[in-house]
Amino acid sequence: MKVSYPHMGTSAIAFRSLCRSLGYEPIEPNPPTQRTLTLGTRYSPEFACIPFKIVLGTYIEALERGAELLISGGGKGPCRAGYYGELHQRILNDLGYDCEMIFFWPPLRTPADFFRKVRRFKRSASWLQVLWALRLTWQKLLVLDDLEMKSHRLRPLELRRGSVRAAFESALKLVDEAETVEEVREAGRMGLARLEAVPVADIDPDDLLKVGVVGEIYVQLEPFANFHLEEKLGELGVLVKRSLFLTNFARTDILRWGDEDIAQVAEPYLPENVGGHGQNSIGEIIDYARNGYHGVVQLAPFSCIPEIVAKSIVPSLSREWEIPVMTLFIDEQTGRGGVETRLEAFVDLLRSRRRKGEGKTHARLSGS
Ligand code: SF4
Repeated sequence: MKVSYPHMGTSAIAFRSLCRSLGYEPIEPNPPTQRTLTLGTRYSPEFACIPFKIVLGTYIEALERGAELLISGGGKGPCRAGYYGELHQRILNDLGYDCEMIFFWPPLRTPADFFRKVRRFKRSASWLQVLWALRLTWQKLLVLDDLEMKSHRLRPLELRRGSVRAAFESALKLVDEAETVEEVREAGRMGLARLEAVPVADIDPDDLLKVGVVGEIYVQLEPFANFHLEEKLGELGVLVKRSLFLTNFARTDILRWGDEDIAQVAEPYLPENVGGHGQNSIGEIIDYARNGYHGVVQLAPFSCIPEIVAKSIVPSLSREWEIPVMTLFIDEQTGRGGVETRLEAFVDLLRSRRRKGEGKTHARLSGS
């Protein structure tokens, strides 16, 4: 049976491996393009958020290539992610695609439903095969995240533009080809070695401008949705740290009820879980300020309520913690050129503040 799933950064490599281990024929989702977005936008409700539209476009492209089953997962809390699966399925059926869809909720939320869906998804595979497949998938996700973090640290230092990207892509290929947990670990070691071999400038990373990224998960993880923000900032000589990776998301939002530590930090400003990662965005901005970051970029799909709520608190937070925050609202009208110009201007502002020695009071404010 041919199966497909959404494209979200590097995670497709791990999900392909999961599907293959369970005897499926994976239809690899193409990295989203303008065509994907156009297709998704054409058939989505006008005010759907951009992740919904891109994912719908990705499904249509996978179905065009023969996918028979789509698998995906939904979020928790009061936001539209909860309706994604249902709505996507109805739209696809109305378009004449007779596909099956399995939409997983976090297991703690509806354990019986989760278990039922895993049974449906595993088909005739034994539980031992399922455990083996999950272990392999998890190991791939861990290694993929390590490689990505390493590439973020090296990119602002690369001597030849594009060399980190080339090393990163060759490392991803190694992980993709690995077929056992041991091979994945070895691929990770080799991948890191390839990245470390990239010629870099002799600059102390502590001297670099540091920018944190917060916001909705899909636009954080999918480079097409965020206009390759991390790469652009890296090329501007900025050390980027993203708050979300699939493995920390799995630990806090799938296997637990959320990131309690970050919720506690956000609590004085936003005591409620507003869905998505709205509350996390607040806590993480404070965390970045406490850790000496020079600025933060908040990624917010246009019409995303959790991030709109967070954005309403950002100006006072930014003043109090003396950390500039740039919010990028993203929809299908947003253009890469405009985003890049805004990022360049933001980085200029941060450099000028740094020269003047502004924004140093967060340590006093946090009491550390
Ligand atoms: S978090 Fe925002 S963008 Fe994501 S599904 Fe919810 S409303 Fe849409």
